[in-house]
Amino acid sequence: NMKIGILGFQGAFLEHEQHIRTLGHEAVDVRYTEQLEELDGIILPGGESTTIGKLLIRTGMMEPLRKKIEAGFPVWGTCAGMILLAKKLVNDSTAHLAVMDIAVRRNAYGTQIDSFDTRVLIPEVSKEPIPLVFIRAPYIEEVGEQVKVMCCLNGNIVAARQQNMLVTSFHPELTEDSAFHRYFVNMCQN
Ligand code: GLN
Repeated sequence: NMKIGILGFQGAFLEHEQHIRTLGHEAVDVRYTEQLEELDGIILPGGESTTIGKLLIRTGMMEPLRKKIEAGFPVWGTCAGMILLAKKLVNDSTAHLAVMDIAVRRNAYGTQIDSFDTRVLIPEVSKEPIPLVFIRAPYIEEVGEQVKVMCCLNGNIVAARQQNMLVTSFHPELTEDSAFHRYFVNMCQN
């Protein structure tokens, strides 16, 4: 059994917890640095990246979490979580972890089509097309050599992995499909 933390400051953390529990694993809200030690991996949920970044600093969690991730701790950032993990933000100066070799554009889809959903086949994650929900989503404009692109939509990168780090522009936790959560739990097991 894996114990997966979900950063619980703000945003869609309860929905992530449900998926982890459905898969038979333990899910906990993370609000204090000390909790990091007992986890097999952590999810940084969607929400408002500026707010979550400020809370990471205020609680003193920013540096310890960054060090842990750099040492191989499995992490999955969805939406705002992707922004927090990116080394480079092309249109923002939010305080962030800056650990993953990607350049991310915040609110990349603009205000006209700020939310949409679709289905896409991502063979390494599921045999069935996966429902993807985008809400004021970022996307990845550039990736470093170590980064594997997992999903491209209309020419934009919306899912990627670099060793212990997984990022998705979209919100698997807001769908019925647990395939991405299963994929992440596997990352935590290895
Ligand atoms: N637009 C938000 C941000 O920039 C992210 C939206 C989300 O997480 N659903 O932080």
